[in-house]
Amino acid sequence: MQCYVCKQNGVDRDAVGICIVCGMGLCSEHIVRSDVEIQEGGYPFPSRKLKTAVPRILCPECAKAFGGR
Ligand SMILES: [Zn+2]
Ligand SMILES: [Zn+2]
Repeated sequence: MQCYVCKQNGVDRDAVGICIVCGMGLCSEHIVRSDVEIQEGGYPFPSRKLKTAVPRILCPECAKAFGGR
């Protein structure tokens, strides 16, 4: 899989992660690892049921949409 953001800029770059919200591939430059609490108000996964903390990976656009810094 390749980074979707880079692809839009005409660059081929391998993705290192996937946005958990929209599913687009992201390279290390465009990946956003978010610590913001986004479970409340429409978080798409039942993350509260998970015992293990999973890294929340977002693309820049989704991070913006969730109000992350
Ligand atoms: Zn990229
Ligand atoms: Zn996204």
